[in-house]
Amino acid sequence: MSQKLLKNIDLIVTFNDRDETFEHCDILIDGPAIKEIGSNLGSEEDTEVIDCSGLTALPGFVNTHHHLYQTLFRGIREVQEQPLFPWLTGLYEFWKNITPEAVYYGALVGFSELLRTGCTLTSDHHYVFPKNQPETLIDDQIKAAGEIGIRFHATRGSMSLGRDMGGLPPMEVVQKEEAILLDSERLINRYHDSSTYSMQRVALAPCSPFSVTKELMVQTKNLARKKGVMLHTHLAETLDEEKFCLERYGRRPFELMEDLEWVGDDVWFAHGIYLNDEEVKRLQGSGIAHCPSSNMKLSSGICRTTEIVRAGGKLSIAVDGSASNDGSNMWEEVRRAYLLNHLKYGTEGLTAYEILRTATRGGAEVLGRDDTGRLDIGKAADIVLFNLKGIEYSGCHDPLVSLVCLGNTSLVDMTIVNGRVVVKDGKLTTIDSEKAAAAAHRTAADIVKKQRSITNKN
Ligand SMILES: [Zn+2]
Repeated sequence: MSQKLLKNIDLIVTFNDRDETFEHCDILIDGPAIKEIGSNLGSEEDTEVIDCSGLTALPGFVNTHHHLYQTLFRGIREVQEQPLFPWLTGLYEFWKNITPEAVYYGALVGFSELLRTGCTLTSDHHYVFPKNQPETLIDDQIKAAGEIGIRFHATRGSMSLGRDMGGLPPMEVVQKEEAILLDSERLINRYHDSSTYSMQRVALAPCSPFSVTKELMVQTKNLARKKGVMLHTHLAETLDEEKFCLERYGRRPFELMEDLEWVGDDVWFAHGIYLNDEEVKRLQGSGIAHCPSSNMKLSSGICRTTEIVRAGGKLSIAVDGSASNDGSNMWEEVRRAYLLNHLKYGTEGLTAYEILRTATRGGAEVLGRDDTGRLDIGKAADIVLFNLKGIEYSGCHDPLVSLVCLGNTSLVDMTIVNGRVVVKDGKLTTIDSEKAAAAAHRTAADIVKKQRSITNKN
């Protein structure tokens, strides 16, 4: 059975080119894509018909920045209250012990929460490759994504500027630049699929200006452009980073990116908080992943969301690593983006509709995709359905405001990825989540216990 008919949806918000919404309509899905949207659609005999009365449909959320392995390192008391630099230096001591098993279960945990909170396409930024572990950690993430059924853009992260060279990370987790480039090319050749409705793509992502050399940034850019894949990094996240760039390179973080030709439609940056007025106008198509929870938790600052959107820039919303959030709840992230935007901009800020657009179509655009992030004929059937009939939504007159401002943002009713129902009645259909949670707890506890015993001995 390759067709599905989502019958009698209360409200469909499409974010298509015509900004259409439909009331009491159906969506016909054929294979991975949307075939038709309209009222009283007919179907073939073997079409699976799903009653969606009472539900509101949106394109699936797109998460443009994460560190999935960090789901196993939440609530680490040694760093819980710290800002970015001391937070990172404390956590590197735990992260240097990650294993393929930790990366696999960390990914499953993060994907599970993302799917159950409405995300259908996520990227991840994996940059920790401990010296004593196999280099194939991204392969483990891609395996987990395939098993659970989420659309996944892996990025081959990297750190090459260790403490001995004036960088932030310890030497146990930095790699030689030739090895990084070789593995980057291997991953692109093996997994990158640029076709329409592709379920897996690969991008290249040196970690940040304070953990890689300028030479690696340039070589990574050259490789990415030769292979036609995107580029990603952390940028303009904190004033500490700005100070580091000014002291080491005599340039502000974004100026450094311009010098290295690391700007354009094939680039997206996580955070973009400390961009000045001129830099906001000079993004040249580079996307920004706005991570409100992480920015609040690490006291980093507030992204210049409204200025970026009003200047015609590409903005998206992302959960960031679970150790700086501490969750992967995409729906909650949308709410926080809305509230933070109002705190900073008041009535000039982005509306509930604009925030939802940023979290859906905006994210797809940042990741270079025009085949998802909107509901339209021929676009991917990446659809999320919410039940806004519960008591927590009662009395609200605007479903978009309900979605962004009210209620319990813990679960969606149904998540469909590439035409496949992956979450039904709030539960994953593809994996045994209790088993995955137990394995993740066990793996996380082992790593943290081991590191604490070493630290206590010293
Ligand atoms: Zn990050």
